Amino acid sequence: MTLRDPRTLHPQPPFEKQPQDPPGLDAKMKPVPADGAESWVGHGRLEGRKALITGGDSGIGRAVAIAYAREGAEVVINYLPEEEPDAESLAEIFEADGNTLHRMPGDLMDEAFARQLVKDAAEKMGGLDIMVVNAGKQVTQPDIASISSEQFDQTMKTNVYAMFWMCQEAMAIMPPGSSIIPVTSIQGYDPAPQLLDYATTKYAMRGFTIGLAKQAIEKGIRVNGVAPGPIWTALQPSGGQTQEAVTQHGAGAPIGRPGQPSELAGAFVYLASDEASYTIGEILGVTGGAPTA
Ligand code: NAD
Ligand code: MG
Repeated sequence: MTLRDPRTLHPQPPFEKQPQDPPGLDAKMKPVPADGAESWVGHGRLEGRKALITGGDSGIGRAVAIAYAREGAEVVINYLPEEEPDAESLAEIFEADGNTLHRMPGDLMDEAFARQLVKDAAEKMGGLDIMVVNAGKQVTQPDIASISSEQFDQTMKTNVYAMFWMCQEAMAIMPPGSSIIPVTSIQGYDPAPQLLDYATTKYAMRGFTIGLAKQAIEKGIRVNGVAPGPIWTALQPSGGQTQEAVTQHGAGAPIGRPGQPSELAGAFVYLASDEASYTIGEILGVTGGAPTA
């Protein structure tokens, strides 16, 4: 097998400025993020599994959806109605593979919707044994003075409350052998000053993940998180960073470039699969070299 240098495997900064309105679309990014459709080869590691992935239309969630399906899992994704173009192109990838993507759009800041989503996904698939809590809101602000109560509330609702609501529902129906995987961040270890509210949620998600893991294993359910570093996704140019920061996204990571969503999918496959049966309450960093300790 040809050795490949990770530093040059994917695009490096500088990138173009490319403002988008939130929640943003993968399809509008330059370059388009690598979702693994061209590269992921399944080995049946999730055969028969039933997965719900929030934010599954784009970015990290999309790459996880592709990998999970190719590993044999049935997949439901949630996303916002504005993101239908990304969800549609993902459905086409599934169809080309001979798989069916179940789509359940809706706003996770709505408690009733977030709770019902878990029940609906389980009903659609005849059960639920993987839940990836990946939807996220990130809005850069230069100073605490510029964070509105509305922004703070929306960031908490999307990242923390929705996780709580969905995990409460999932814990009630998941059988032993299931996995819950919240997506935290390097921001949950080393908060950037311009991401104060967002980093706060990622610390909360880390604590929740480790704490819930101790409860959930008593039911045979494993809970583990993933902590990405700077990843090339629509979250960043749609308000998650300034446009100046977008041009240098990933430059500060030891590897010198942002990660692509396809480079994270393996972590999610591992954590969901029986290969990780003794891995509980762990947060797996995929950061391009920035320490998560
Ligand atoms: P992304 O924009 O592709 O995915 C985020 C998704 O969140 C969107 O696709 C959207 O469907 C969903 N979402 C946002 N608000 C929602 C709401 N109210 N209701 C329902 N869905 C909603 O970007 P991504 O970078 O792939 O983000 C996925 C996760 O990765 C997030 O939790 C993010 O915090 C985390 N993360 C990203 C980075 C990065 O550099 N991109 C780094 C660390 C962690
Ligand atoms: Mg999206």
